[in-house]
Amino acid sequence: MKCFLRKKIGERVISGHPWIFGNELGDSEGAAEPGDIVEVYSYGGSFVGKGYYNPASQIRVRLLTRDKNEVIDDQFFFNRINEAWEYRKQIGYVENCRLIFGEADQLPALIIDKFNDYFVLQTLALGIEKWKGAIVAALEKIFSPKGIYERNDVPVRTLEGMEQIKGFLSAPFDTNIILNENGLKFHVDIENGQKTGYFLDQQDNRRAIKEIVRGGDVLEVFCYTGTFALHAAHYGAKSVMGVDISEHAVATARRNAELNGYADICKFEAMNAFDVLKQWAKEGKRYDTVMLDPPAFTKSRENIQKAVTGYKEINLRAMKLIKPGGFLVTASCTNLVPPEMFLDTIYAAAKDAKRTLRQVEWRTQASDHPIIRNIPSTQYLKFLIAQVV
Ligand code: SAH
Repeated sequence: MKCFLRKKIGERVISGHPWIFGNELGDSEGAAEPGDIVEVYSYGGSFVGKGYYNPASQIRVRLLTRDKNEVIDDQFFFNRINEAWEYRKQIGYVENCRLIFGEADQLPALIIDKFNDYFVLQTLALGIEKWKGAIVAALEKIFSPKGIYERNDVPVRTLEGMEQIKGFLSAPFDTNIILNENGLKFHVDIENGQKTGYFLDQQDNRRAIKEIVRGGDVLEVFCYTGTFALHAAHYGAKSVMGVDISEHAVATARRNAELNGYADICKFEAMNAFDVLKQWAKEGKRYDTVMLDPPAFTKSRENIQKAVTGYKEINLRAMKLIKPGGFLVTASCTNLVPPEMFLDTIYAAAKDAKRTLRQVEWRTQASDHPIIRNIPSTQYLKFLIAQVV
């Protein structure tokens, strides 16, 4: 099928964004089944690109290529995955990496995380789901992996008319694995962990806390499997307390502490962060460093203000727990809260707390999650280290 863009649409598609919304499409020629590859042309008839089509989705077409001569077949997916791997190797993300970061790797709606010899995959749109076989074959060919698993148990798939599923895409294997990061070891539960099982986007940020945790009492809130907590212990913290609402996460965090020989320094409790921050401030508990890495607070534009209020609240409370001259480590993975908005919120919280922040580092996700300027959703992680004077 050939689809034609409407006459008056923004510059977004032309300037590199791969998504074409239903209301941006005008006439079409020929027919296509949901998930099929279609060709997109401008209103005036010049070729824009080829991509996959889903009439059930608001994002009607996601472009895979802007090269008219490029054929979308199994080899295409092999080439794209291979290129992404060459790039990761070049920039030094080899053992563990986000191998495919969707749009940033020109494979919209595809996520692949590599945890040493294991691969976890998400196909979040119908058009990419159809190529799952080719994608798995490419992984087999390039890596001869010990296992491939799909974590497609994610609600966004319903927007594409797909079911939520998880399971093996290779011969079954033990889905409880261990990965190495920054000289530490972490248990990863590929089957039941959050998202793909492990948050690789913070791998460099975990190293960034090295100098500020030494010798101090550290609190990590929203700790998941205790990754920042263990790094704090590794970098010389005196004591580390980790809090997460998930019992499963806390159990894994405790096992991670044992695995690395820090069980006497790192303690973990399953509690609600909002209660803990309020209660412990009241009780007069104080820390040298408080680290916050909450889950995304909203996925819809209507709730951006609510998300901002949430960030302000937890950061304000965290600051009250920090000794003068101590450090706040605070992150946000909410896609719809841009970096400036997040920073403004943290500084507004500091004002209310009558504290001054001295920025140590202002960071984003690790470079194996590349940022493409024209595709704002590719820059999603905000990460601030600040001294709280
Ligand atoms: N920093 C971690 C990732 C944190 S993900 C890492 O790098 O590995 C966010 C965590 O917040 C999840 O583990 C989730 O269980 C937890 N969480 C969500 N709501 C919470 C709440 N109200 N209180 C405490 N933890 C919560």
